[in-house]
Amino acid sequence: MSKIQHTEIGQLGEFGLIRHLTNDIKLKQKTTIKGVGDDAAVLDLKKQQTVVTTDLLLEGIHFDLTYTPLKHLGYKAIAVNVSDVYAMNATPGQVTVSIGVSSKLSVEALEELYEGIYAACDYYNVDLIGGDTSSSLTGLTISVTAIGVADKKKLVYRNGAKNNDLICVSGDLGAAYMGLQLLEREKRVYAGNPNVQPDLSGYDYILSRQLKPQARKDIIEFLDEIDVKPTSMIDISDGLSSEIKHICSQSKTGCRLYENKIPIDPTTSMLAEEMGMNPLVAALNGGEDYELLFTISQDDYEKFAGKEGVNIYLIGHITEESKGCYLVTNADQEVELQAQGWNPLKK
Ligand code: ADP
Ligand code: MG
Repeated sequence: MSKIQHTEIGQLGEFGLIRHLTNDIKLKQKTTIKGVGDDAAVLDLKKQQTVVTTDLLLEGIHFDLTYTPLKHLGYKAIAVNVSDVYAMNATPGQVTVSIGVSSKLSVEALEELYEGIYAACDYYNVDLIGGDTSSSLTGLTISVTAIGVADKKKLVYRNGAKNNDLICVSGDLGAAYMGLQLLEREKRVYAGNPNVQPDLSGYDYILSRQLKPQARKDIIEFLDEIDVKPTSMIDISDGLSSEIKHICSQSKTGCRLYENKIPIDPTTSMLAEEMGMNPLVAALNGGEDYELLFTISQDDYEKFAGKEGVNIYLIGHITEESKGCYLVTNADQEVELQAQGWNPLKK
């Protein structure tokens, strides 16, 4: 794609733009009866229960276009939404995408955004079935709604954890947060001296964790395969501490997490130390990892035995509510978990 071209959106007009961006959609799901093109989309979800979730992404609050490629942003907007559907143990089938577009963006820029959106729709096997388009005076705005289905007995809520259940997480934590710290640092360096090229070498993994997160579709499929239904589940968007506290407060339980069990990638630790931060804090409070955090009954533990290829980490256990929510450190001290979260409203 040519980056030099800059076609003003006004040249196409609203309807021309929508047609341009949605012309090539091929519907994948049998449940999609009507997609883009009428006043509303039509779905036939048969007898399954329907899961609906929405996320709002605002330029300057949730993303920074100075270092976020639009294609990655489009991909991420879909991935973080289907992640919420998977966190219900449901299967996503459709998404809608609404955009508010500032005048600085060209048609080519929106094509890039939609390239990422369509790549994610293909990967997660969902149809883009509609949306809305408007101009914006305050930067780019993206709102995505995802729709999924599940049999009633399969749905997993946040409130089902029981005393003695095991706490599991589907991958390493803190990398997405350190990726953001790295991008912010290089942005500051560049602002100070535009002749300095950003030095991002060796950090591909954590940058991809920030810029191109994956929703853990594979984990939902794996749990189904080994016939394990978690007792509770949530996806990690705001950091491990905050999410386990959601599970515990809704389930009316406490928990113990173990410092030495929390998976942290070596590059995450390296960069955190280089920046004078504790990697554990990045893992506990960083957020945007989009891993699944779930609890299972001890009786189900043996079903994981001998299953290779899918890394699921056992990081603690559920306790009675009166025991509170604590991290047991390597020095065998108990530190109360703080639901700091990643909350831009607190900045
Ligand atoms: P309305 O006036 O009823 O809101 P629009 O002209 O906004 O209709 O939209 C026409 C069709 O294009 C609808 O099917 C709508 O869902 C779809 N659509 C509009 N904007 C987008 C978008 N940004 N991405 C995907 N589909 C869109
Ligand atoms: Mg509209």
